[in-house]
Order: sequence, then C-alpha cells, then structure tokens
Amino acid sequence: MTNDELIQLAASVINPRKTDTGLFADVGCALLSIENKVYLGVCANSGSNVFCAEQNAIGSMITDSVYRIAKIVAVWKDQQNKVHVISPCGNCRQMMLEMDRENLNAEVILDKDKTVTLEELLPYHTWWKKQ
Ligand SMILES: [Zn+2]
Repeated sequence: MTNDELIQLAASVINPRKTDTGLFADVGCALLSIENKVYLGVCANSGSNVFCAEQNAIGSMITDSVYRIAKIVAVWKDQQNKVHVISPCGNCRQMMLEMDRENLNAEVILDKDKTVTLEELLPYHTWWKKQ
C-alpha cells in the first residue's frame, strides 16, 4: 500500500463535530499492520481528555490482538479541504514503542514521498528489559 493510499484512507474518516467543550473526528489516522490489514481511527477531544486518532486506530488493532505496525499516518484537513499530514505526538510514539519493540521499524508517513521510522522519531528512547 502506498503512502498516498494510506493518506487518503486517513482523510476519508475525518468528519469534524464540534461541541461546546469538545472536538471530535477532525484528525484521521490509517495504519497498516504487519499482517497487511488497515485500521482507521479519528481523534476525540473533550475538555482535558485528548484521545488521538492514532490511539483510536491502535485500539482497533489491539482489539484484533495485533501489535505490530508496518506504516502509520495521521492527517488533518484545513478549511479548503487540503489534507495535511501530522507527525504523531510523544504519547503516541511511546505507545507504539511499548506495544512492541519491533515497532521501532514502523514507517511513519510524513508526506506522500517522505517516511521515517519510529526509531528516527524516538532517537533517545529507552527500552526496558525484564530483569
Ligand atoms: Zn498522539
């Protein structure tokens, strides 16, 4: 699956809903598991609760008992409907690492022509070994 295809899938689930205190589904995420299955998610922010689109897609993947990511992308659309790729926040980067150390090799899409590994986004990560 190409970066552009995943970007389009992530954009396809964006359907913003704004309430007095919340903003929902204005960021979309698509991830490709190493089993080659796509999981989608949107963000959900209410008050101080921030639930990233990546976390939503990752949650669906975990529900399938899958923990390894091949590729992931999150996007946002501006008022002209232009799609912008968003780099995962620190919490999402750490979650991907702690789900499975092999996710350090996951490709994080930064643009249709630019991909970095999770390890490149977490250059000073620590992996805790069981004693
Ligand atoms: Zn995040």
